This record gives sequence, C-alpha cells and structure tokens, in this order.
Amino acid sequence: MPKDIPVIEQILSANDQIAEQNRERLAKNRVHTINIMAAPGAGKTSLILSAIRGLRGIRRIGVIEGDVASDVDSVKIRQEGIPVVQINTGGGCHLDASQIRVALDQLPLNEIDLLFIENVGNLICPVGFDLGEQTRLAITSIPEGDDKPYKYPSIFHEVDALVISKIDLLPYIPFNIVEYRRLVRSIKPEIQLFEVSVVTGDGLAEWLEWLKTLSPRT
Ligand code: MG
Ligand code: ZN
Repeated sequence: MPKDIPVIEQILSANDQIAEQNRERLAKNRVHTINIMAAPGAGKTSLILSAIRGLRGIRRIGVIEGDVASDVDSVKIRQEGIPVVQINTGGGCHLDASQIRVALDQLPLNEIDLLFIENVGNLICPVGFDLGEQTRLAITSIPEGDDKPYKYPSIFHEVDALVISKIDLLPYIPFNIVEYRRLVRSIKPEIQLFEVSVVTGDGLAEWLEWLKTLSPRT
C-alpha cells in the first residue's frame, strides 16, 4: 500500500472492545445470546420462563439477570434448574460488557445453547451498550400503552425483534395494535414481531420456533 494513503482505524470504545471479546467467547462456545431490553414490568422474566419451559429438552438455556437490586427474578429461574447469574447494578440503570464478562466466568458455557441476558428495566440507555450479544430483543406490554414508538423510537430501531406482551389484556385497554405494528415497522422495516400472552399461551409457538432457529443445535 502506498505510504501516503491514510489508514483510518475504527477506535472502539472500552465497552465495545470488551463486548467484542464476549461475542468471540460466546461464539467459540456455540452460545447464542439474546439481550432483552424492556421497561420494568413488561414481562421479561415471564417470557424467559416461557422459553425455559417450552424448550426443555430441546435447547439448553442459561440466564444472566440484571437488576438494580434483589435476586427475586434469578430465584425463579434457578427453581427451573437453569444456570443463572445475578448482576446487581447497585442503582445503575443498564448492564455493560464488563459486567457480562464477569458473569460469563460463572456460567457453564459449553453446556448452554441459548443465553438470555435480562437487562435492567429501562427503555433508554441499555440500547447504547453492546454486551457482546448476537440478538437484541425488546418487549413492550399492552398496559404500557401504544405511544412507545413515538416516545422511545431508538429502542425499536436498535433491536432485531420485538415481543408485544400481555396481549390477553387487549380487550380491556385502549391500544391500537394495527397502528402499533405499522409504527414499529416504519421505524424498523425488517423487525421480527411477536404478539404473546404467557397467560393464554397465544403466540408462544411462534416465539419458541424463532428461538430454535436462532440456536440450531450442533
Ligand atoms: Mg424481571
Ligand atoms: Zn443506564
């Protein structure tokens, strides 16, 4: 290469560098990782539990639970006999790649096909932190209302898939789901959309089928 051509290297931030190391490590262990982002109460843990139960004997699942405080969610996961690591951020409103690196040290990666990372309940800043995941998933629930794509467009833009949860509540809450789908697709045309109720089981089959395609068993 001639000497006078400047080479511009992308300088990765410290978080992105660690995220890249996490991603390589996960790939080496054939672990497909999904970073789940949602507001508090959207149903992140319930959806993870639905996957654990629906894929038992089909995919080996692990979970990293991020919470500001407490371990109530990871206790529920552990009761299912699933490897789980709790990260308490002590007030921090998102997970970062270095926390995930520490958590990965504590998981039997060679015995996991699908790793869920339950991010801290927050629709804003988790989006800005790559953790080393392959897939990003958002969950919004019917009770949160149908204005989220207007108020928080960046999360819809940055995820690969969206689960609209608690659809059993649609008859009781003003929520224009047709318009909601249209808005979400106007922000991210290629987004995968799922409409799920873990109470009635509606939409669970499609959700589980998608998880299987992400993590083909080798
Ligand atoms: Mg939870
Ligand atoms: Zn934050």
